[in-house]
Amino acid sequence: METIHDQLRDHKKMLDKLVADLDQQKVELEEMASLKGQRQIELDEAEERHTKSKERLMNVSSTKEYNAVEKEMDQLKRKSEETREQLEHLKEAIELNERQIAEKEDKISALRKQINGVEQEAEGQIAVLQKELKSWEAKRGEAREGIKTGIIRRYDFIRSRRGGRAIVAARDAHCEGCFMAIPPQLYIQIQRGETLESCPSCQRILYYYEDAIEE
Ligand SMILES: [Zn+2]
Repeated sequence: METIHDQLRDHKKMLDKLVADLDQQKVELEEMASLKGQRQIELDEAEERHTKSKERLMNVSSTKEYNAVEKEMDQLKRKSEETREQLEHLKEAIELNERQIAEKEDKISALRKQINGVEQEAEGQIAVLQKELKSWEAKRGEAREGIKTGIIRRYDFIRSRRGGRAIVAARDAHCEGCFMAIPPQLYIQIQRGETLESCPSCQRILYYYEDAIEE
């Protein structure tokens, strides 16, 4: 159940990341659109000033003034050209951005659908696992009834400290819970099976693997 929850969390995290990325790109698009508006205003102004200068050129009284107005007109023309070029670049960038945003939106909606499907499936799996868990818990409850209180207390204590596993196999002179070596004398005692022995490293109760397999 934890694995399923982890997977769902991972999916959600991935989705959140994509949504954040999309939001960021939308902010960039807005900035570009506002810059485009600003550039358009600049272009209009330059063109308007150019038209006015042209009118002034008709009424100048000296060569000096004529030259000055002509110079100003050249500058305004250059400014217009530059601004027009920037506008063109911005338009292209905006179009690209809009395409990317549309793609990302498609991807996110597909992923959302997929996640919904996975979630529904997971709910079904979890329901099955919960049923199984209840049945195991009932079996454990029954099994406890025939065991001495002192041993049950020891079992519960170990279980609470060892991630739910209080009884493990002793196999090839190793504890299967912590994988530490079991001293030879202790291993012989475990094989005899007459006493209840614990792993000296992790304290889990040990049973002899070979016997358990045969049984
Ligand atoms: Zn151990």
